[in-house]
Amino acid sequence: MNVTFRCQNCDAITREPYEANTTMFTCPACQTAHEIPSDAIGADATGQIVVTRCMVCPGKELYFRKQFNQRLGITIIALGFAASTIAYYNHHLMWVYGILFFTAGIDLLFYIFTGNLLQCYKCNSEYRGFEESLEYEPFNLEIHEKYHQQRIRLEREQQDAKWLATHAPQTTTTDEPPTH
Ligand SMILES: [Zn+2]
Ligand SMILES: [Zn+2]
Repeated sequence: MNVTFRCQNCDAITREPYEANTTMFTCPACQTAHEIPSDAIGADATGQIVVTRCMVCPGKELYFRKQFNQRLGITIIALGFAASTIAYYNHHLMWVYGILFFTAGIDLLFYIFTGNLLQCYKCNSEYRGFEESLEYEPFNLEIHEKYHQQRIRLEREQQDAKWLATHAPQTTTTDEPPTH
């Protein structure tokens, strides 16, 4: 399995391999160690090894989604559309439908046969190459919204703190006894 994550210290994106004996990820950019929580790996009801929480942030909620490359999917459809338009102008109606169905079919096959990746709602870390388990859950908009709101609140708090720090009254100087 490998984990793609954003360094909690310097924000650099990195992909690190995870083996059963890996205990931490080290950011290649700033060398910050991200210790993996010991309960990040567990087992599901069937005994299958599962990721139980994010190894990076360490949020407890993860969802799975297709690794499907949307840009590739759209490119295939666009090429099919262009080719069918040419066929249309040349009055090859069978080719028009044939090309459209063919490219849509390729897209569908790509979609079906690409594997899943796990993603953390909180820090967006991505896990690839894990074993499938029935206990993994698909994307849930409500949970996503919850973390989104948390992120906004946190950003506002940081902005407030910054503002207060720069606008704080200078009380420390008045408390000191005069030096002269
Ligand atoms: Zn870093
Ligand atoms: Zn996370």
